[in-house]
Amino acid sequence: MTTGVLAFMTTVIDGKASAAKLREGLAVTVADLKRDHNLVPGLAVVLVGEDPASQVYVRNKGRQTVEVGMQSFEHKLPADVDEDELLALVEKLNGDDSVHGILVQLPLPKHINESKVINSVSHDKDVDGFHLVNVARLNTDGGGVVPCTPLGCLMMLKSTLGDLSGLNAVIVGRSNIVGKPMAALLLQANCTVTIAHSRTRDLEALCKTADILVAAVGRPKMVLGSWIKPGATVIDVGINRIEEEGKTRLVGDVDYASAEAVAGAITPVPGGVGPMTIACLLHNTVQQAKRQHGID
Ligand code: NDP
Repeated sequence: MTTGVLAFMTTVIDGKASAAKLREGLAVTVADLKRDHNLVPGLAVVLVGEDPASQVYVRNKGRQTVEVGMQSFEHKLPADVDEDELLALVEKLNGDDSVHGILVQLPLPKHINESKVINSVSHDKDVDGFHLVNVARLNTDGGGVVPCTPLGCLMMLKSTLGDLSGLNAVIVGRSNIVGKPMAALLLQANCTVTIAHSRTRDLEALCKTADILVAAVGRPKMVLGSWIKPGATVIDVGINRIEEEGKTRLVGDVDYASAEAVAGAITPVPGGVGPMTIACLLHNTVQQAKRQHGID
């Protein structure tokens, strides 16, 4: 879809369509794995507690896993579950041959050590790319599993821009889940990368230098159109619920209305990065299943 009239056309990067295309390809791969290797990739999702947003995510993940022909296993534990009980479940899934990917839905309740749980998942079954082995691989030779959200962003950037070599990329946000792995991926793609955060001085001026601007902050509509270099590609990772005109709405970290008039390409919220994140989770599960069975 394109908008704008005079200076240039703005491309709206359609995450829903990109995710559907990725899932289509995965369904074919899954069918091939079943036919040629009698292998059905399986994804186990562990949900602790009753957080409504997490319940929706887990339901969507389970539905889409089945839709591409894979097996989905859901494990629900009460919010007051013992850490040892959760670790024992992960251990059991690590040893289960029908499970090729394990995802423990975050955030976990405060009494549970999140990092201990993340690293208790076998790195061969880690589909989030959060295990220390996979973090190390991403930051050294590559080849491990890459966190889903930045992977989806990279796929959309490549399909929009092609070769990213030499482009200036600014990432606003330095979380382990989005900002840092995004920076590692863009560096691998030969961008010149700057990571901004809450202590960055003159964020506006820095953003204006970006050919690629990724916003992963968690602050509704923080990045304004006036911060964006004309023609830049803008990836809005933020998902923020706000009250507007008496209704609850989802908005990103970018002020879409002003940004759309300046950017060369931009992801909307919703319908941008979100759908690609789940599709990349399925992609990572298939990748892990193939790796575990030595299939190229
Ligand atoms: P975190 O809260 O972990 O990190 C936010 C980052 O933003 C931090 O590095 C913080 O800096 C930085 N920051 C905060 N305020 C400012 C500011 N005023 N100026 C510059 N930088 C600032 O968030 P996540 O990375 O987990 O998530 C970011 C957003 O992306 C959220 O809206 C989240 O919901 C969304 N998200 C969306 C996903 C999807 O699938 N679409 C998946 C994951 C997240 P500092 O480190 O200095 O504190």
